[in-house]
Amino acid sequence: MTLGGRLLRAALPLLAVALIPLRADGATDPCAAPSSGQGISSADQFNLSSTKLSAAELISAIGYWAGSCAGYGVRFPSMRVGGTGGVAITVTFFDTTSTLPSGSCGVTTPTLVAPGNSLHSAQIRLWAKQGNGIPCNKVDSLAHEIGHLLGLKDAPQVSCQGRIMGERPANGTRQVGAGECEVAGSMWRTSSEDSGHDRPPRCRDDLGGPP
Ligand SMILES: [Zn+2]
Repeated sequence: MTLGGRLLRAALPLLAVALIPLRADGATDPCAAPSSGQGISSADQFNLSSTKLSAAELISAIGYWAGSCAGYGVRFPSMRVGGTGGVAITVTFFDTTSTLPSGSCGVTTPTLVAPGNSLHSAQIRLWAKQGNGIPCNKVDSLAHEIGHLLGLKDAPQVSCQGRIMGERPANGTRQVGAGECEVAGSMWRTSSEDSGHDRPPRCRDDLGGPP
């Protein structure tokens, strides 16, 4: 065996250890980071309603998540237009330039409840144009705001452009990656999940103490 081969063999276990967290945990993906304000929430469904967006537009935004995440409807809630009994999400659209201080295309106002700041319901507001006059894509913006409801925070880094929580490329749209699916799954519980199955241990002071 060559020296290089021996070095490689010696380094392989280290490489394997370094790769495991990347594969098993989306939290290492800088473009898919959990929100600090929203806690773990429980629901089986999001019920989206809007008097401004068509059902087809709502379904297109849902499709970003339904079409990308194997855990859709299992590890985090499924989403539908209308209906009741789940998390009520009202979507409003203003056919004007954004009036937000940030000038962004949309904003989500979640209603979080104690204990643990779980998501109860939410209002999403969307605008036709950014503050700087650049047209928004309301379906893409809605898919981004849904990302917030799934427990993800903005990823404004240049390297995250094109990812759903990052910046939208000029004239383009964003995509949901495996890391975003993973974080959404970690931030939600559904009735189809076994309690405690495949989850990291909860942070508790009374764990890990002396025997
Ligand atoms: Zn955002």
